[in-house]
Amino acid sequence: MRTGIMGGTFDPIHIGHLILGETAWQQFELDRVLYMPAGNPPHKRDREGRASNEERLDMVRLAIEGNPHFELSTLEMNPEGYTYTYRTLERMKKESPDEELFFIIGADSLRDFDTWMMPERICAACTLIVACRNHIDKTTLDRMIEGVRVRYHASIYRLDSENLDISSHDLREFVRKGRSVRYYVPDSVETYIKERHIYGCCEQ
Ligand code: ATP
Ligand code: MG
Repeated sequence: MRTGIMGGTFDPIHIGHLILGETAWQQFELDRVLYMPAGNPPHKRDREGRASNEERLDMVRLAIEGNPHFELSTLEMNPEGYTYTYRTLERMKKESPDEELFFIIGADSLRDFDTWMMPERICAACTLIVACRNHIDKTTLDRMIEGVRVRYHASIYRLDSENLDISSHDLREFVRKGRSVRYYVPDSVETYIKERHIYGCCEQ
């Protein structure tokens, strides 16, 4: 089984996350892609202008509904909150040794990769798939990828994808200011945000 993993805060999930998962699924011939929302540590829960853990889960569930090779995973939503990626991947490997794991990230996450906990253990447990973001040019991204490959003996590849100018941060701002997020998120997620008044949304 070849399993892709899209980790993130998904606050809210948007079409960038969905297109990334679908593109990786196709290019790397994955059997499934797990959408794995990160747990928030207790002090970061119930923050003003942000969705709760439950709401983030609901939005992921709504967004991936209908795609037979997308699944929700709550492995990183433990009661204490935060879970380190290397621990999650090692746990998955232990429970399912024959499963091949592909961790899908954007170029901004790769830039921070050295600061993640135990990057060498992450690289030992999975193949990294990196997508373009913030208009980084392919040569620069390839150089960063090569750096991580050498530093951590990583199996790491660039996803052949378009730059997608969209972030959860911007969408939270859109909602707060009353600007429509239609088509940036699935309709069901847009409706959910409106109904629950998430991100300071005032229903129009
Ligand atoms: P925020 O603005 O709150 O940081 P985000 O849009 O970056 O949200 P995250 O949940 O932080 O979304 O991202 C999860 C993963 O998806 C990260 O690896 C990130 O790099 C990647 N990602 C998110 N949006 C895009 C995008 N538009 N293009 C490429 N990668 C993306
Ligand atoms: Mg982000």
